[in-house]
Order: sequence, then structure tokens, then C-alpha cells
Amino acid sequence: MDLPYAEPYRIKMIEPIRRSSQAEREAWLARAKYNLFNLRSEEVYIDLLTDSGTGAMSSAQWAEIMLGDESYAGASSYYKLKETIADLTGLPFFLPAHQGRAAENVLFSALIGTGEEGRGKVVPGNSHFDTTKGHIESRHAHAVDCTIDEAFDTELDHPFKGNIDLGKLETVLKAHRREDIPLCLITVTCNSSGGQPVSLENIRATAALCRRYGIPVFLDAARFAENAWFIQQREASCAGMGIKDIVKAMFAEVDGCAMSSKKDGIVNIGGFTAYRGEELFRKAMGFNIMYEGYNTYGGMAGRDLGALSVGLREACEADYLAARIGQVAWLGQALVDAGVPVQRPFGGHAIFVDAKRFLPGVRKEEFVAQTLGVEVYREGGVRGVEIGAVLADRDPETRENRYPALELLRLAIPRRTYTNDHMAYVAATLIRVFERRKAITRGYRITWEAPILRHFTAEFAPLS
Ligand SMILES: *Cc1c(COP(=O)(O)O)cnc(C)c1O
Repeated sequence: MDLPYAEPYRIKMIEPIRRSSQAEREAWLARAKYNLFNLRSEEVYIDLLTDSGTGAMSSAQWAEIMLGDESYAGASSYYKLKETIADLTGLPFFLPAHQGRAAENVLFSALIGTGEEGRGKVVPGNSHFDTTKGHIESRHAHAVDCTIDEAFDTELDHPFKGNIDLGKLETVLKAHRREDIPLCLITVTCNSSGGQPVSLENIRATAALCRRYGIPVFLDAARFAENAWFIQQREASCAGMGIKDIVKAMFAEVDGCAMSSKKDGIVNIGGFTAYRGEELFRKAMGFNIMYEGYNTYGGMAGRDLGALSVGLREACEADYLAARIGQVAWLGQALVDAGVPVQRPFGGHAIFVDAKRFLPGVRKEEFVAQTLGVEVYREGGVRGVEIGAVLADRDPETRENRYPALELLRLAIPRRTYTNDHMAYVAATLIRVFERRKAITRGYRITWEAPILRHFTAEFAPLS
């Protein structure tokens, strides 16, 4: 029998977290108006709100923090990062940015345009991340979702639910003039479809198809290393390849990328764009200087550039990825074994609980996943995030609530931050709520909401 995987690191520094009583949590929930974003972090025992910027840095990364070169131009920390990115991705040009959406802003300014230049243009891809979509739509362009249909069935097992449907993509490519398709964007792993990977074969086929139509292809590379791990585990033709070779092969197909370094960069803040061609790089440079800062720091401190140069390499280590994705799967399996309905197969960074099947007694108008999120916090001080009708917001024209097909509670796992004992606690908390699910029949009404992006700040009152 194979030995089980275990974390390829030990703990040198700890950060205390505190368990609270049910009475304390009840008071905090009322004060927070039942919106988990309004809780103070000390009021949360295990925080699974997001995996973005919440990971733990290694001793090697902290050492780079101390070596950080804060020179305005030509800092050594910049050159360390440049070398890492060129080495891992094969892309010779890069521009730092302060986070992923800032990188998108720079890339899209160069490719789609600014002001009215984007009107009538389309950006096909697999389910675009919400800030990505925001940056496309704010330029009056359209993000066209070409993800395979299998991605939308939470119970269907498919190894690469992030894949692009080539038929859907070709329909888009045929229906528009070449100059109206500034790029095709492949998000790895596909965050919006649950951290589901894209196969190398699909990246290659997508790139080949786009090349035939003269359309550049870019990666939204926030979780490129996790995607490479899934390719190694699930794609027969890649089984013998190392993670770094797979990463190289993924990037070899594309013209560049935008990355949120808060994910597989394992840093708390940062991002970048990278380019194969010098012409586009030079064009993007103008926007980077305007929005982010000079080319060799781009909105990041020198120390953070240095920490990122190490984090990107650590994220590609096979033992790290096995423990990382193994931990997410461990939590998923613990929930499945107890009968808790979760999305299958498990994604790379989060477990998605199917709130409609968990709480069939709560009406959609009373916000099912929001209700489940509050119950899980109330039970054990565990914070997840609602991906349902609150997030879906109102229709911009009719102002009616939009009710998405799925009501999900996302449990995102920060990198290298919690132990499997914490995961056992999370599972036990959810199972306790599951055991009393029949008694949960009423949800919430909104008492205040902002005109856009209401989920962050909305206030709720319980219905009874
Ligand atoms: C997080 C994320 C972004 C945006 O990055 P920020 O660093 O949060 O601005 C873009 N795309 C994907 C796929 C992401 O997961």
C-alpha cells in the first residue's frame, strides 16, 4: 500500500485563532446584519471565505521579503521575478501589477482598447471570472462563455469541466470579424465553474483553432499550477510528465497571460501580465505605467516581487500540489461520505456545497445559499461564501432579483494555512447542520442593498 500524502513542510510560526461560543456568534451575526462579509476576522474560527491572498508564505519567501530591493527602477527583486516567469512560462516579457484585476485592466486596454473602442467586440473563453467579465463589459465588449455543457451538471463526473467547447468557440469565431475578436481567454483552472481544470489537449486544440482565425490566445493563469497538477493526474498522455514540463507546455500554446498572484503565486497581494511578442508588450507598457507604476515595480513593493519569484516556483512543486489538492479533496470526501451534497468532481481550491439540495425547504426568494452560510457560521464559526441569488444581484434593466440555476456555498481553502484537523472540524460543522436541516425552513429578506455588487455589503433580517 502507498503511504498517504502529507504536507511537505512543518510549522515554524503560528497565528492564534479562537473558538467562540454559540451565544457570541449569535450576537455577532445580529450585529453583522447576517452578512458574513461584515464579521471581524477574530469572530471567525476557520475562514474559508476565499483562497485569494490568504495563503501562508514559506521561510524562503520571508527571506526574500528581507532582501527586497525597493529601488524605483531596475530593482534586483524585479529581475528575480522576471527570471522566474520566463523560466516557468517561456514568456520573455512581463509587467508587474498590484493584483489580478489590475493586470486585466492593462492587458485589455492594450488588446480591446479604451473608451468606446471595445464596442461590438467579443472575448470568447471558458466561464470568465467576474472581474474579468467586468473589465470586458466596462469596455462595452462581450464575454462569450464557451465552456462545455458538462460543466453545468454538478453531479456529472468529468475530468476537465473547465474545457472549452470547440464547436461553440468556432461559432463565435465565424460570426464576427477578426478585428472584433481581440483575444480568446482560457482561465486555468476555471474559477467560475468551481476550480475545474482545462486539459492540455483542449488548450492545444483551442489555440490551434484560434490560430486558424488569426485570434491571439491568452491564459487567465491565477491557478496555472493547480491546473498542471490535474493534467498530470487525469490526462493519460501527460501522466509521465513533470509539473514544470506541463506548465511549459500550457504556456507554449498562448500569446501571453494575466495572473492574480494571490492564488498560485502564494503571496498576499500582487499580479502580472506576460507576453510572447514585444510589440504588444510595448503597447501594454504605456498603460502599465499609467495605471500601475513603472515597468520594474508596477504597483508592487520590491519585497513582494521577491516573495512572488519564490512562491511561483514553490507552487509548481509536485509534493506541495499533492498536499494542497489532496487536502481539498479530503474535505470533499468527508462531506460526501456523510451524504452532504457537494459539486463533483472536487475542484482545485474549493468545495462547493449544493445549498438547494442541502436545504430543500427554503424558498429561493429567501436566499438558500445565504441561509446555509449563516447556519454553518452559527454552528461552528466557519465562514464560507454565498454563490447564489445574492451574488447574482438584480437584472440591470428590470431590477428584479436574478435566481441562478445553482445555489452554492463555497468553502475555499487557503494555501498551506490550515491543517487536516481543521478540515475535520469544518466537515463536522457542516454535518451537524446537515443533521438538523429539516428544521431549517425559513431564510432571509434583504433590508438594505447597494445598487451594484450588493453581496459585499447587503444587510439581512431573518424570516420566521
Ligand atoms: C482572483 C482572480 C482574478 C482577479 O484577481 P485579483 O487579484 O483578485 O484582482 C482574475 N481571474 C481569476 C481566475 C481569479 O481567480
